Amino acid sequence: MIKAVRGTRDLLPPDTDLWNRVEAKVRDIFARYSFHEIRTPIFEDTQLFSRGVGEETDIVSKEMFTWEDKARAQSEKAQLLTLRPENTAGVVRAYIEHGLDRQGTLQKLYYIGPQFRRERPQKGRYRQFYQIGAEIIGPPSAGSESPARDAEVLEMLATLLDEVGLRDWSLQLNSVGCAEDRARYNKALREALQPVVHQMCADCQRRAETNPLRVLDCKHPEDQPIIERLPKISDYLDQPCREHFAQVRKMLEALNVPYAINERMVRGLDYYTRTTFEFTHGGLGAQSAVLGGGRYDGLSESLDGPKAPGIGFAIGEDRLILALQSQGEQPAEKVQAFVAPLGLGTNGHALTLARELRRAGVSADLGEENFRLKKSFELAEKAGAQYIVIVGENEVASDTFAVKNLATGGQVQVPRSQLVEYLRK
Ligand code: AMP
Repeated sequence: MIKAVRGTRDLLPPDTDLWNRVEAKVRDIFARYSFHEIRTPIFEDTQLFSRGVGEETDIVSKEMFTWEDKARAQSEKAQLLTLRPENTAGVVRAYIEHGLDRQGTLQKLYYIGPQFRRERPQKGRYRQFYQIGAEIIGPPSAGSESPARDAEVLEMLATLLDEVGLRDWSLQLNSVGCAEDRARYNKALREALQPVVHQMCADCQRRAETNPLRVLDCKHPEDQPIIERLPKISDYLDQPCREHFAQVRKMLEALNVPYAINERMVRGLDYYTRTTFEFTHGGLGAQSAVLGGGRYDGLSESLDGPKAPGIGFAIGEDRLILALQSQGEQPAEKVQAFVAPLGLGTNGHALTLARELRRAGVSADLGEENFRLKKSFELAEKAGAQYIVIVGENEVASDTFAVKNLATGGQVQVPRSQLVEYLRK
């Protein structure tokens, strides 16, 4: 038997009802905050990620699905292509490629789609997973660097999580400063790690060499006391970065968005500058981050684009759904009416009636003329229908239908002309 590949999974009804409900809600919220959708390709030139996300990150160094696209002509070079492991680099590439900076305004873009990383699969971690993300990017003259953008994005996320019904989320906030701050902090980390790193796990030993910031992500219990004593990023921020972060915090407080400072949250991607954040939820176990994001003021320039500071986030949709399910969120969308033909020759009449209901916006499921009434009732209940509408010979002759409310058990006769109105109530 051929099965879905490890780390990938099928999303089936009724779960997909919940996925769709969440997506409809977030599209509505994005529209209210004046974001518009962007759809970028699922695979891109590998260099986009190695340069954008960063050679030394976990994603680029070990998690990408990359293949060589054979040259079609002798003059052509074979190209390395990669399934997108994240979507910000693709959005910024599109921003540059289409000259969106020339509009001179802020671009507020969102996306919903699959991403691919070769990770060790476990609950909440898949090799194909889905992200709902958004970016605000534009020239500095349009206000893209302003701490008000950070606050706007974080407030939108708080509203979004509240409105999809997630309870008890928490926001962890940090600032990783600008490139120069990070360079100074990296140097300080290297120096502080040098005498102690031999006591740490193999990953930390490697990271201390290649990317000391990543040491802060280490989850090994034995390494924690050492990590606790390492220098703090906040001591290495320059005055403008300090001031920017203070402004973000002030606005969040004014907006009543609760947050906690987490100085160890430096996030896994090289492009982040200044504000970084994660929202976590207790119902997720080890993979507790529902979403992550931050500012990336230099990303466009590192991809040969114009100066275009930005801020964005990606919600792990799989994890958001898991968190909602851990709270007992019910997936199934109920059908309003079950149309039950009864007796030979009634299928056509039932089809016509179902079509009238559906065209009028009433959701309807349909039975089969040779089913006994008992079986139709069982099917209607299984479909979660509110009403069953019986289409027997008498009903067809009188154009009046027996309608039973499956919750209350009450039954009435309703003329065809009043049926839609009755079922909508
Ligand atoms: P990142 O920017 O890598 O932190 O990703 C943003 C969000 O995507 C995370 O907070 C997770 O919710 C989600 N995510 C990342 N990797 C995976 C994965 N392999 N499987 C499921 N969700 C993921």
